[in-house]
Amino acid sequence: MTHFVCITCGTQFSESDAPPRACPICEDERQFVPRSGQEWTDMASLGQTHSVIWNKEWKGVHSLQISPHFGIGQRAFLIEGPDGNILWDCLSLIDEASKTRIATMGGLSAMAISHPHFYSSMVEWSAAGGGVPIHIHSDDGEWVQRPDAALHPWTGATLSIGRATMIRCGGHFAGSCVLHCPWLEDGRGALFVGDTMQVTMDRKFVSLMRSYPNLVPLDIETVTTISEAVRPYRFEKIYGAFPGRTVEQDGNHVVERSAQRYIKAIAS
Ligand SMILES: [Zn+2]
Ligand SMILES: [Zn+2]
Repeated sequence: MTHFVCITCGTQFSESDAPPRACPICEDERQFVPRSGQEWTDMASLGQTHSVIWNKEWKGVHSLQISPHFGIGQRAFLIEGPDGNILWDCLSLIDEASKTRIATMGGLSAMAISHPHFYSSMVEWSAAGGGVPIHIHSDDGEWVQRPDAALHPWTGATLSIGRATMIRCGGHFAGSCVLHCPWLEDGRGALFVGDTMQVTMDRKFVSLMRSYPNLVPLDIETVTTISEAVRPYRFEKIYGAFPGRTVEQDGNHVVERSAQRYIKAIAS
C-alpha cells in the first residue's frame, strides 16, 4: 500500500495498492492535467531526487521549498511566534534534515494551509511533529484527499491560532485563507497569502484569480470582499506563495491599490 503523490499538483492521497484513477484537484477547472497525462510518485521516491531547501526570509520567518522544482513549486513558511512555531502552507516532501531542524527549533505548535493546492503532504508534516493540528477552512473540506484525525476544519470568517489570525477571504477557493502575524516586522505585521492573493512579478501589487494557470478572473463583488476581509489587520510585508514574491513594505496600501486597479479593469 502506498500514499501516492500527484506529480502535477503535489497532492498526497490515502493509501492504495495502485495509483488513483485521477487527481480531482488537477481535473478541477482551476488546475490542469499535463499533455503527457497524469503521473504519480511517492514520498520515498521523491526523497531520493529532491530535498527541502530552507531560506531565512526575515527575523522569525523561514521559507521552505522543494528543490529541484516539483509540482506547483510553492514555498511553505515556518513562522516563529510567541506561542510556538506555525507552519503556513505545506510541501509534498518532508526530509530527515527538515525533521531534525524543526525538532531543534522546538517543534511545530500548529499548521495552517491556505487552500487545497497546498494541502500536499500535510498529514506527513503533522505526523512528524506528533500529530500537530492542521487548520483548514471547512468550505474546502471536499478537496481533502487524505483524511486524518489531525485535520481541524473550521467555519466562519476568522480563526485565532495563538496571536496569529487565519482569515477566510474566499475567491480562489471558497475557503481560501490568509494568515496575519502581528508580531512580525517589529510589530508592524506580515500577511501570508498563499494563492488567495498572488504577489505580482514587480512586487508592487497583488492579483486575484479563480484560476492562475487557466487565467479565470474573479468578479467585482469577490475582489471587494477579499480586500475588506484583510482591511482591519495591519501588515507591512506580504509573503506570496512563490520564491521572491514578497511585498517588502506598505502591505495594506498595496492590497487596496491592487483591488482598485483590478475593479477598474473589469468594471466596464
Ligand atoms: Zn493533482
Ligand atoms: Zn491555488
